[in-house]
Amino acid sequence: MKRVAKTIAAALAVSAMGVASGVYAQEFPGSKPVSAVVPFAAGGPTDKLARELTRIMSKHLGATIVIENLGGAGGTIGAKKVLQAKNDGHTVLIHHIGMATAPALYRNLGFDPLKDFEMVGEIADVPMILVGNKQLPPNSFKDLVPYIKANASKLSMANAGLGSASHLCGLLFQSAIQTELTTVPYKGTAPALTDILGGQVNLICDQTTNIAGQLKAGALKPYAAMQARRVEAFKDIPTAGEQGMPGVEVKIWHAMYAPKGTPKPVIDKLSAALQKAVADPAFRAKMAELGAEAVPAQRATPDSLRTLLTAEINKWTPVIKKAGVYAD
Ligand code: ASP
Repeated sequence: MKRVAKTIAAALAVSAMGVASGVYAQEFPGSKPVSAVVPFAAGGPTDKLARELTRIMSKHLGATIVIENLGGAGGTIGAKKVLQAKNDGHTVLIHHIGMATAPALYRNLGFDPLKDFEMVGEIADVPMILVGNKQLPPNSFKDLVPYIKANASKLSMANAGLGSASHLCGLLFQSAIQTELTTVPYKGTAPALTDILGGQVNLICDQTTNIAGQLKAGALKPYAAMQARRVEAFKDIPTAGEQGMPGVEVKIWHAMYAPKGTPKPVIDKLSAALQKAVADPAFRAKMAELGAEAVPAQRATPDSLRTLLTAEINKWTPVIKKAGVYAD
């Protein structure tokens, strides 16, 4: 009898929890702000995208979204912070392709991106351009490659840590020219760009969201767009493929995640606001101005993100394993 009473009590407790989380989900977001963790330095490409997005998404969600920058280790430090955050919808992660490359690069990553996060949706795709500072003698990609080969020991390439977009793109480039350069890691490409402009580091393969202003001002030497077609906003910069180096292509997709166990109705609200934000003409125009492309609303969904993340993990894992590059 005692056991029956206990079972009934346990069942009642579970259903009460269900009701409580249902009630909670109905009230979400309430008056508390949502914290969006950006796992890179302030002022950089992911940060710029996140600030533009959250400014618009806040309106659609009906809550303030505050950016929290937590850079380092190619974005894995920020991701871990979100992993441990309360799963009530008030913490989300805005990350890029690094979410798919980390499981292969970090043998002791401590999380599974597919199993340990809830998917909210995709945000935008950002192209990359290989640039150097004005002090670098070569004025074209054609002259750059032999120059690098002849001066490899004196040249350096910046990146935002192992697994960052700039690291992946730099790896592809160095492997294509079969020359290794000294790499200098930063907490994001915002501080890296400061050093590029200052001449402390020579080259970087960076996202257009970070370098658009400097490119337009002529403060950097652009060498090649690292994708199959020219970047719409920078039509005068030829692709690496056009300049004799096909296959050096990397697309930096961005997405939003929430801690595991965030209730589905809460995820649905976040995703609905995200879908409205990516479809908002103001966001689309801002992304285009920065050389990027906001995803269509149907990609700003949990299902679309899960499919993409799975495909990208399957694509990058063998490439990284074959290259034998590890971050730990
Ligand atoms: N997303 C990084 C940043 O915001 C840069 C990178 O991944 O290369 O700084």
